[in-house]
Amino acid sequence: MCGVFGTVIPGGEPTEAASLATLGLFALQHRGQESAGVAVSDGEQLMLYKDLGMISTVLDERRLPSLRGALAIAHCRYSTTGSTVWENAQPTYRQGPRRAIAVGHNGNLVNTRELLTQLAGGRSRLPASTDTELLTALLADEEADDTVDALLRVLPRVRGAYSLVILDQRRVIGVRDPHGFRPLVLGRLPRRSGDVSDDAGPWVADDDAGVGWCLSCETAALDIVGAEFVRDVDPGEIVVLEPGRAARSVRFADADPALCVFELIYFARPDSYMEGRNLYEARRRMGEQLAIERPVDADIVIPVPDTGAPAAAGYSEASGLPYREGMYRNRYAGRTFIQPSQGMRHRGVTIKLNPLREVVSGKRLVVVDDSIVRGTTTKRIVELLRKAGAREVHVRISAPPIYHPCFYGIDTSIETELIAASHTESEIRDFIGADSLGYLSIRGVLAALDLPYDRFCFACFDGNYPEPVPYDAASRKFILEEPVATSARG
Ligand code: SF4
Repeated sequence: MCGVFGTVIPGGEPTEAASLATLGLFALQHRGQESAGVAVSDGEQLMLYKDLGMISTVLDERRLPSLRGALAIAHCRYSTTGSTVWENAQPTYRQGPRRAIAVGHNGNLVNTRELLTQLAGGRSRLPASTDTELLTALLADEEADDTVDALLRVLPRVRGAYSLVILDQRRVIGVRDPHGFRPLVLGRLPRRSGDVSDDAGPWVADDDAGVGWCLSCETAALDIVGAEFVRDVDPGEIVVLEPGRAARSVRFADADPALCVFELIYFARPDSYMEGRNLYEARRRMGEQLAIERPVDADIVIPVPDTGAPAAAGYSEASGLPYREGMYRNRYAGRTFIQPSQGMRHRGVTIKLNPLREVVSGKRLVVVDDSIVRGTTTKRIVELLRKAGAREVHVRISAPPIYHPCFYGIDTSIETELIAASHTESEIRDFIGADSLGYLSIRGVLAALDLPYDRFCFACFDGNYPEPVPYDAASRKFILEEPVATSARG
């Protein structure tokens, strides 16, 4: 899971596209906190700046003067292939014999090893160890007239999850894999009245001159930059954006939709929309379903902040139990689940959450969260609440148990790290130290969404993988690091 954003702004200030892409990316910080970067084109040259760290520290105002051009893409990273090192930050950049391109990728490929055999020169030509770097090299090498033609030749060989923003000299291109595992939406920046330069640079302007375009993995980022939602990029579709022109659609595969349902349950912002559903409302309804499926006699309902709040509100409404905020969350600490190492995750819980003793002491609590992955975070939360005087702690999860690894862009590819894969519900309850534990069913998720099963990927819950995963994809986060392990991981 990463954040991607792209924009074209004809006739704006020289650094406006980079500024707007950074602003859009900032709205997507929750999707990746390991690195950030922006690539721009002025119609002649591509420029790139990226580094490890949060967006606000990497892309501060000092970087903007050098990032000039009407086209920009931006990326923040959550690693699923390759270590957290500078080389693996995105956007990637490659000057090939045919073209220069930069790529931002949300998702994870499942046939990386197979693709590597197709790269002339092999692994030694890759300066980084990500599937995105490999894809970028294949696209830059491809003997095709332009980037869209290169995509039409390369993408049929690529399998897995990819929502891409691609920059070449003259275009920003959005691509979504045939399953559409990760979201990608198209937005339109309204024509500005009176402040648009007549000189649209090297672009041939038509009726859409002055109109800008955006691509984003979440609609919330469109809101933040002032763009209007136009539509989802379809699974199997390429969308080509050029300054001063209407967006162009090119289909490269039939759609076989399987949007990651976890995007709706947990990952994406609650103010985003997916599949026509507002995610706050979808999560609130999941909480209602959870109260129907897993009721409990208690005094109050509290969320694990912030992501458990909508479902806790729904649980409260459906159960009639009062809703209270029982934990303070330090908003300056990163997401627990997104931290790459176990040690950091454990420290993260204590740094991040502190129970409100006045609220929880002596109470029978329903504690609502959106997922249990390894169980260690929930165990720590229960410990903290008991220490603060809670009389009973009943944990309710607004998602089904995670039995299976994800190979499509979430770093849960090691089955042994998933507590539900090896423990029964009562064993998990004992491990986390709760008085009771209850999960929402898949049927309950679908009832809350009011959408059919076949629109989504539910693989981590039911093992039904929409895209076959080669055997060696398991535990292969460092698949491209084996020959260079010493230098890449140092
Ligand atoms: Fe999402 Fe789970 Fe499917 Fe991965 S396996 S894409 S996390 S639903």
